[in-house]
Amino acid sequence: MNFALTPEQAQLRQAAREFMRRECPPEVVHTALAEGRHSEALWRRMAELGWLGVAIDERYGGSGGDILDMAILMEELVRGEPAIGPYFNTVCFGGKSIGFFGSEAQKEFFLPRITRGECVFALSITEPGGGTDVLGAMQTRAERNGDGWVLDGAKMFTSAAQRADYLLVVARTNRRVEKPAQGITLFVVPRAAPGITVRKIDTLVPIEDTNAVFYDGVRLPADAVLGEEGRGFYQLLATLNNERILGGAAALGCGVAAYEAALAYARQRTAFGKIIGQLQAIQHYLADMATELDAARLMVHRAAWLQSQGRECGAEATMAKMYAADVAVRACDRAIQIHGGMGLTSEVEVARYWRLARLWQIGPITNEQCRNIIAQLRCELPRSY
Ligand SMILES: Cc1cc2nc3c(=O)[nH]c(=O)nc-3n(C[C@H](O)[C@H](O)[C@H](O)COP(=O)(O)OP(=O)(O)OC[C@H]3O[C@@H](n4cnc5c(N)ncnc54)[C@H](O)[C@@H]3O)c2cc1C
Repeated sequence: MNFALTPEQAQLRQAAREFMRRECPPEVVHTALAEGRHSEALWRRMAELGWLGVAIDERYGGSGGDILDMAILMEELVRGEPAIGPYFNTVCFGGKSIGFFGSEAQKEFFLPRITRGECVFALSITEPGGGTDVLGAMQTRAERNGDGWVLDGAKMFTSAAQRADYLLVVARTNRRVEKPAQGITLFVVPRAAPGITVRKIDTLVPIEDTNAVFYDGVRLPADAVLGEEGRGFYQLLATLNNERILGGAAALGCGVAAYEAALAYARQRTAFGKIIGQLQAIQHYLADMATELDAARLMVHRAAWLQSQGRECGAEATMAKMYAADVAVRACDRAIQIHGGMGLTSEVEVARYWRLARLWQIGPITNEQCRNIIAQLRCELPRSY
């Protein structure tokens, strides 16, 4: 058994950490937050460093890394979340989905553009009727029209839609099916297509703007279909492990950032004539944070390793995302406590990390639904919903 990163992985981690410290100070993050969009300069730099193509096949200009490389990068990049904007949507989801299911023409068109930082994706899956029971709630539909399609419906929480070049939209294309999972199709929709309206949703989450998106008679060519018509939901299922592992890595990044901020504060803040880091209560908080974050990282890396070996990891990926999100929220909460009153001000970053960590308990899948899935896959109990 070997728990060490390879020299290349350790180098990637170090490079990403130094890059974020150097090029993404709090001012860059706060500007991105105020503007509701990521930093174009940072995005370009990440493209130059090859990080937008980290898991894209070398044939399409990427560096051909695996999910563990992505998880390592994700953990480090998340400190600058609003500034790195649609990294998760574009690199972890858009690039991966096109790599898995795209036609040769779609791969040749999209993957080099993603790698070069010329193409941003948004994910339009969740609907106003619900994200957990996504099939039960789905009203968005696409109907055949000549050679192409016409798309109608509404989506909630499509993050980065206001800036994206393309939207990955999930729509029902056939109602006469035996199971709700059948008859669903994935579409790659140009953001500028006539009939699309984007309306910002105000949230407390410090990320690039998230939006309601309305699709009114949007005409699409036949080659807007990603993968196989009617098999879209099964295709989504095939990307879920990636999504959960990287969600776990992102949550972990928030928790680690909060822990490091709290540790630095505990070393310099004084009370009763000594640094608060000398007080046992504060030491115990920090010891618990360090322990839980280590455990979460081991779970994320185990799931990523299994996935990279092509082995079954549904339970492990779901556990990793759920546990990392819970641990991150606890770590951020303790970091606020260690900062005392300052923890709830915008002078320090820990409350921002808490709001971000909180998202990962809800998206891309809620932690309640994770527990349902773990009960089924690991405990082999009957489906509860
Ligand atoms: C800031 C932000 C950004 C987002 N970005 C995107 C994006 O880019 N693209 C996108 O498509 N979506 C996005 N989402 C949506 C996110 O994925 C959904 O919010 C999430 O899947 C939950 O869906 P919901 O909000 O409709 O909650 P619901 O599904 O309505 O759930 C409400 C509550 O009921 C619980 N619940 C439901 N069913 C069960 C069950 N069977 N057992 C136990 N509990 C259950 C849930 O766990 C939750 O606590 C984003 C959300 C936020 C807040």
